[in-house]
Amino acid sequence: MSGSVNVSAGRPYLAIPGPSVVPDPVLQAMHRPSPNIYAGELVEMTATLIPDLRRVARTAHQAAIYISNGHGAWEAALQNTLQPGDRVLVPSSGRFAIGWSEMSQGLGVETEVLDFGTSAPWDMDRIADALAADTAHRIKAVLGVHVDTSSSIRNNIAGLRHLLDETGHPALLMADCIASLGCERFEMDAWGVDVMVSASQKGLMVPPGLGFVFFNDKAAVARKALPRISRYWDWAPRANPQEFYQYFGGTAPTHHLYGLRAALDMIHAEGVENTWARHAHLARTIWAACEAWGADGPLRMNVPERSLRSHAVTALRIGSPLGTELRMWLEQSLGLTLGIGLGMAPSSSPEWHGFFRLGHMGHVNGHMVMGLLGGIETGLRALNIPHGPGALEAAAAAMAGH
Ligand SMILES: *Cc1c(COP(=O)(O)O)cnc(C)c1O
Repeated sequence: MSGSVNVSAGRPYLAIPGPSVVPDPVLQAMHRPSPNIYAGELVEMTATLIPDLRRVARTAHQAAIYISNGHGAWEAALQNTLQPGDRVLVPSSGRFAIGWSEMSQGLGVETEVLDFGTSAPWDMDRIADALAADTAHRIKAVLGVHVDTSSSIRNNIAGLRHLLDETGHPALLMADCIASLGCERFEMDAWGVDVMVSASQKGLMVPPGLGFVFFNDKAAVARKALPRISRYWDWAPRANPQEFYQYFGGTAPTHHLYGLRAALDMIHAEGVENTWARHAHLARTIWAACEAWGADGPLRMNVPERSLRSHAVTALRIGSPLGTELRMWLEQSLGLTLGIGLGMAPSSSPEWHGFFRLGHMGHVNGHMVMGLLGGIETGLRALNIPHGPGALEAAAAAMAGH
C-alpha cells in the first residue's frame, strides 16, 4: 500500500527483461481472424519480413524464422553447424552463456566454457590463449552472448572476431543477440559474425513465440557439410522466402507474423540507429538514479563500469530479502513489475531474494523510465530501505541531457 491507499489500478507496467512491453500497434495487428496460410495477404506479407529483419541485424545474408523462443533459436544455430564430437568455445559472463553451452552439450558437442563470473566481461587474453592452444582447430564455433540478460554485461562481439582473425582460427563466430537486437548497436556483417540468433519478445516487441537465426555463406557451407540435419531445425528451406509459408515445419505462426510486421514498421519508422540512441539515453538515465541510490545503503549495480553495461537491462543487488520485498511491494502497490535476479544465487537459497533486474528494452520511452525510477524511489522509502539522496534529480538531469 502507498500510505493507506492502493494505487495499483490503471495500466500495469511490466519492466522485466523479456517479455517486454508489447506496443498497441503490434497488439492491434495481431487482433484479427485467422488468415489463409496458403495464399494471399499473409504469404505476401511474410515475404516482406526477411528484408526488414536483415536491416535490423545489419546483414545482407540469410535469415530463418522458427516458431520457438530464444532457446529454440539457440538449438537451431547449433543444429545447422555442428555434429556430435565437434567442439565449441563459450566465454561466459552470466547465466545465458551457460544456458547456450548446456544446449550444445545436450547435442553431444564438446563444450569448453571460459567462465568469467557474473559481473565481469570476457577476458580477451584468456579467449585468445584458448584459441591459440587449439592448433588442431577442433573448435568449430565460438558462442558469444552479446548482452547477458542475467548479469547485464555487454560483451565485445567485434573483439571476438579480431581474436579469431589474429590467431587465424577458422571457427564460426556465433552471437546471441536475443536481448540486444533492436536495442544496442550490433553490426552482423561489419563485425564478421557468421551466425546470429534472436527472438521476438525483447527488443523486437512481439510476444514470445518467434525465433530468428541469421547466417552467412561460411555458416551455410558448414551446414552443407553435415551428414544429417534435423528436419525441423534445418534453416535452408526456411531461408527461402518463396517457399517460406510451407516451411514453418507446419502451420505458419500467423498472428505473430502480423505482429512482427507492425513491430518492424515501428523500428524502421524510428530508424535503427535512433532506437539504439534511445536505449542508450534511457539507460544512462537509469544508471544516474541507481548510482545515486547506491551512494548510501545496500543497493548496488551489478556492473560497476558504465562502458560494460547493457542499454537494455540492468541487474542490481540489494541484499536478501529486500530484492523480493521491493519487487512484491511495487507490483502490489503501484502496478509496476520488476524482473527477478537470474543466475546470481541458486533459486532455492536465501540469497536469491537479494537481486532484481530492470528491463528497458523495446517499447520504452522517457516517461516510462521516469515512472519506473519514481516507483523504485517510492518503494525504497515505503520499505525504509536506506538509499542515497537525489536519485530522481540525477535521473531528470540525465534525461534532460545535463
Ligand atoms: C531471453 C534470452 C534468452 C532465452 O530466450 P527464451 O525466449 O527465454 O528462450 C537467451 N539469451 C539471451 C541473451 C536472452 O536475453
